[in-house]
Amino acid sequence: MSCDHRPPCPDAAAPDASAAVALAYRPEQGWTLLCNGSIQFDDTGACLPDGRTVAPQDRIRDACERAA
Ligand SMILES: [Zn+2]
Repeated sequence: MSCDHRPPCPDAAAPDASAAVALAYRPEQGWTLLCNGSIQFDDTGACLPDGRTVAPQDRIRDACERAA
């Protein structure tokens, strides 16, 4: 998926991936499709464009480790 934004959106694998521009938002289903191809869920979980998934607790743990 190409990105035409300036500055370019963070890669789906980047720590700040959720800062990418939202292309589609479905609050009734609890997900947002981002420009970098990942799908972010309201519980902080995510699906990456390569098929990997990020469990909500992983995202929270990573945030705690960065804050430590
Ligand atoms: Zn973009």
